[in-house]
Amino acid sequence: MSHPLDHRDGPRDECGVFGVYAPESDVAELAYFALYALQHRGQESAGIAACDGGRIMIERELGLVSQVFDERNLRALGGAMAIGHVRYSTTGSSAWENAQPVWRPDRHQVALAHNGNLINAVELHEELSEKGVSFRSTSDSEIIAALLSTHEADTIEEAVADVMPRLEGAFSTVVMTEDAVVAFRDGAGLRPLSLGRIGERYCVASESCAFDIINAELWREVAPGEMVSLGDRGIETRQVVESPRKAFCVFEHIYFARPDSILEGNRIQVSRRKMGEILWREAPVEADVVIAVPDSGNAAAAGYAKASGLPRDDGLIKNRYVARTFIQPGQELRKHGLRMKFNPLREVVEGKRLAVVDDSIVRGNTTRQIVGMLREAGAAEVHMRISAPPIRHPCHYGVDMSTKQEMVAHGRTVEEIAEELGCDSLAYLSLGGVYEAIRGTRETHCDACFSGDYPLARSDDANGKFALEELAVLKT
Ligand code: SF4
Repeated sequence: MSHPLDHRDGPRDECGVFGVYAPESDVAELAYFALYALQHRGQESAGIAACDGGRIMIERELGLVSQVFDERNLRALGGAMAIGHVRYSTTGSSAWENAQPVWRPDRHQVALAHNGNLINAVELHEELSEKGVSFRSTSDSEIIAALLSTHEADTIEEAVADVMPRLEGAFSTVVMTEDAVVAFRDGAGLRPLSLGRIGERYCVASESCAFDIINAELWREVAPGEMVSLGDRGIETRQVVESPRKAFCVFEHIYFARPDSILEGNRIQVSRRKMGEILWREAPVEADVVIAVPDSGNAAAAGYAKASGLPRDDGLIKNRYVARTFIQPGQELRKHGLRMKFNPLREVVEGKRLAVVDDSIVRGNTTRQIVGMLREAGAAEVHMRISAPPIRHPCHYGVDMSTKQEMVAHGRTVEEIAEELGCDSLAYLSLGGVYEAIRGTRETHCDACFSGDYPLARSDDANGKFALEELAVLKT
């Protein structure tokens, strides 16, 4: 589902979720701005559900947060609490039916926003279908919503506590009923979820940058396996699942999260700069100037330059609006390829030996074109330095990467990749270097896309992105 003019050929950001219980505030406005801050986590659709005196109202649509909402439809979303979602599809296609929050009025009325990917979605779908439950979408998020909305328990907290152990895979989830906003996270803690305070009330969000924009404070992260209920009585928490293996996605630190967010006690920008410093220690190069692939490589390039003592300059200028261009260029323009996104500055690169820093390479198309473009602009040498290890394996936990075969590092040595990309040299940060930068260990993180070591059982035969759609086709 990659688009030729997508922002980059890296993995797609997954989803962002938000939830707040604050009767004294304009909760729809809080959700709007929080989602605005989480926009980097998904640009395909956006939605907000609010609850006012027992009625859940939802507004969701394909598009960016700023395109989906205006003053008029936000005003219609009043209430004591709200949840919100921005989406890049990981399971199911990007059709409108798969936009979130999902709403189900079975035994209980629930609205639900989910970031992650269930690896037992097909089994759960079959089980519910056999009980006569029908579905409107092909997203695994609706399966979680259906398990909760059809549940026999009297309270949503009891329903969540019963359902959580049955879900396999990654889920940072926010669900809203007529009484409460309940957030819960899988036992491995694969995807992020933070808890914030807003005045006397509480909110949850995928990343702390959503709290900053609404003047909330990051309190702590929702623990892996924990359920947090926000309602009239304040906050209630319960440890529902105890997983022996914690597996927070290390790629959040490298690539997904916004630089101003705090994850696991680390300010992302600071960790990425540190990755650049360690990259210099592990892979120095004789160069005249360090340049970043903007914006993804900015922080690591700053670290690389600082550690090396080499000057840093802007050798590539990025068009910040290209991600929203959907007009395909004709043959003539296509030859110029990436000039759409990046333009080299001849004055900076001509005759220079360049150390070019980026945070990751997936398919390699972008990197190959950047190398060619820099050479055309007169660079004497192009040395690529990547602040992550080679990506060789797909993700089954909510991140849409290319297939193995499309990954430039798949089945190639680093020298072969360098040849493929056309650069003079190429070096990657080691996994050890990543963990040193984030002050963490492999034992508590997932690094499967780099190492192939999947932390959850059954991941090798995980349901693919369109597994539910295939099931739907088989059944019709
Ligand atoms: S496979 Fe990679 S992207 Fe997916 S959860 Fe693990 S570290 Fe994150």
